[in-house]
Amino acid sequence: MSQPFEIGTVRVGPGNLGTGYIDSAYLRDGTRVRIPLVVAHGAAPGPMLWVGSAVHGDEIPGCEVIRRLMRERLDPRALRGTVVAAPVQHPVAFLTCARLTVHDGVNINRVFPGDAAGTLTQRVAHDLFHQGVARSDAVLDIHSNAIGAVCFNIVRTGGSGPAWDGQWTLANAFGISVSVGPVGQLGLAGTLQDAAIQAGKPALTVELSGGYVWEEPSVRAGLLGVLNVMKALGMLDGAPEPQTEVPVIPGRLTNRRYLVCDKGGLVRPLRPLGSKVAAGEPVAVLYDVFGEAVETIASPIDGWVITYPVAGNRTAVSGDTVAFVFGTA
Ligand SMILES: [Zn+2]
Repeated sequence: MSQPFEIGTVRVGPGNLGTGYIDSAYLRDGTRVRIPLVVAHGAAPGPMLWVGSAVHGDEIPGCEVIRRLMRERLDPRALRGTVVAAPVQHPVAFLTCARLTVHDGVNINRVFPGDAAGTLTQRVAHDLFHQGVARSDAVLDIHSNAIGAVCFNIVRTGGSGPAWDGQWTLANAFGISVSVGPVGQLGLAGTLQDAAIQAGKPALTVELSGGYVWEEPSVRAGLLGVLNVMKALGMLDGAPEPQTEVPVIPGRLTNRRYLVCDKGGLVRPLRPLGSKVAAGEPVAVLYDVFGEAVETIASPIDGWVITYPVAGNRTAVSGDTVAFVFGTA
């Protein structure tokens, strides 16, 4: 029998579900930023798994994955270890359904492990990380690309040791496509995943699809993936099951390209998401407001079309990313 478990304001006995908060910084009106937690504390001892969502406040499919996991699928009496779920990891950005914090314009997923004396966003990152994430044995941080995107996990390279190797235990069990690259690839550093690995915790960035809505195949793939990870960690009985709801691209996607436009206008995708594309082949075309084609965006590599990330609409300005194409070499 395991002991009672405490985190933030949550105190939960073995075999039970509890809710509460990690308390963080203060807003202008004195309101406290409170990071909500749902905790399933197993009757039997085992690892602590962190499952977080909405670190970007407009990426909510992970909230639904967590709801189904914690409210429909898990029975704490039959669980070994503890699942700490944080459905809204950055409540300030969630409040405005935005990627960035409106108060300081900061992307929280570039400032982990945060700073207790920094900006609002840095303080929330610090409290989330040190009071929550850093206590766990494994970490899943669920994000979301645009509608219809290929779901994938990110595995980091550039270090060695149990946390780095442990990423593969999580990714192989989760079962969706895997993008592999060094910390800092395409300017992506200071992520929750990076900080967790630096702190010795195996961690994945999980990229589902749907943006600020959710898509059933993506949510079901996310839920199955988390349950698979729990089986691999010995928290649940059984072996991981293969992903069948979403396309899984074979091999390791090591070549990650963001396709950027030079002109501005309306973006028309030319290739289905998940389809193979050859180097030089057009992936999208840009029309101006008069309907003239002003730019064709071609893939620089052989790869797969992963997403058209122009969030929420199909317009672009110079320098916007209009498509992700990932290759295996
Ligand atoms: Zn995100």
